[in-house]
Amino acid sequence: MRYVSTRGRMSPAAFTDILLEGLAPDGGLVVPEFYPRIDRATLARWRTLDYAALATEILAHYCSDIPRADLDRLTHATYTRATYGTDAITPLSMLAPGLYLLHLSNGPTLAFKDMAMQLLGALFEYVLAKRGERLNVLGATSGDTGSAAEYALRGRAGINVFMLSPHGRMSAFQRAQMYSLQDPNIFNIAIEGVFDDCQDIVKTVSADLDFKRRYRVGSVNSINWARVVAQVVYYFRGYFAATRSDEERVSFCVPSGNFGNILAGWIARQMGLPIERLILATNENNVLDEFFRTGRYRVRSSRETCATSSPSMDISKASNFERYVFDIAGRDPDAVRELWRRLDTRGEFDLSATPFWDKVRASGFASGSSTHADRLRVIREVLLSTGTIVDPHTADGIKVAREHLDERVPTICLETALPVKFAETIVEAIGRAPGRPCAYEGIEQRPQRCEVMPVDAQRVKDYIAAHAQ
Ligand SMILES: *Cc1c(COP(=O)(O)O)cnc(C)c1O
Repeated sequence: MRYVSTRGRMSPAAFTDILLEGLAPDGGLVVPEFYPRIDRATLARWRTLDYAALATEILAHYCSDIPRADLDRLTHATYTRATYGTDAITPLSMLAPGLYLLHLSNGPTLAFKDMAMQLLGALFEYVLAKRGERLNVLGATSGDTGSAAEYALRGRAGINVFMLSPHGRMSAFQRAQMYSLQDPNIFNIAIEGVFDDCQDIVKTVSADLDFKRRYRVGSVNSINWARVVAQVVYYFRGYFAATRSDEERVSFCVPSGNFGNILAGWIARQMGLPIERLILATNENNVLDEFFRTGRYRVRSSRETCATSSPSMDISKASNFERYVFDIAGRDPDAVRELWRRLDTRGEFDLSATPFWDKVRASGFASGSSTHADRLRVIREVLLSTGTIVDPHTADGIKVAREHLDERVPTICLETALPVKFAETIVEAIGRAPGRPCAYEGIEQRPQRCEVMPVDAQRVKDYIAAHAQ
């Protein structure tokens, strides 16, 4: 399998060549040259595989330059009972007849991002060792992504992590999760500013190409292709868990922000998994819901992006969306370049009056959005009817899934985090805090280490230079 850019100006590259990269050199996103089609016989064979073996099968199509035996070793080292607490890795439970919840948040940082990030850590370490290279990962986080990256890369040979976070602006739990890591390859830098300041510093440092090359600076952001493809695995697993035969169809409902999670569902559908609908749920920041209802994709300014009680979905533009649009545009890079040129100049494009709109309508997507009040109500109702507490992001998904129920086809809601990460909202909804997995008891009391710095890219560069691999 080779990879090309959505903007068409990158020569085809192998998986291990794109693994460590962010944007394609032409500013686009890397995509596989085609989606492998999985026939019914293969689907039937995959139904009985355990999570790691299924991950090997799916990834083998996309990572054809990694020997299968090596891939198998990496997936089996990643998807373990020790890390996820169950043999199923992603268990399925019933919320109501025809409505299921796929549990994706039993990894080390209690959010679905671990599902992909843990494998990414293993893949990075493997490829760097093969090439005799080292890497310094630089990132900015407002909470979830940074901790998932740190727990995936802690203790890995040849990799240091420099993670910027806004000083004093994360919850005590999130701070403890990141800053209590004592691994010598993890460096937390608390910036005296907001998340956007952290993000800007990362951009400034990455724009200094000499520095980037000299210190082998890389990233693990949401556009990383390996993260997307690792997520494809749980759509297959969820499908097998909710059905008995490959004649049946299911729908998935996905709380969405950067369009990374649901993009994996789109890829699973393109591969031939019998998915009826992909139901996209947003919170008040409804950029994507607006697109799927009207055809208009209008990115928001940071002023227009509100801080909500499902903060991991507070996005102004959806970084992975370009990959879907590339497929809708018949994989024509000229069309994608033109649409993104319009987006850069006018802040929006509208597909409703173009031939692409029919393709969007036929692509199986539905959408809806949710508010703070909806979230609280769903958390209360799900607790009453099932005894389970769901987190606010998952609640956004359940709210929208209920609006699209179809009695012929079961709907699987993806759980994107555990409620303990968002205890304040849970207390507001049900009057008490959610329980904590025992590994996290007293985490706020553990010793923490982090470096506090002003909003100053040069200071961050000096720090990386002094501590780089
Ligand atoms: C990252 C995240 C999301 C959004 O996922 P995308 O892949 O960006 O669409 C939703 N919920 C939680 C809890 C997250 O951490």
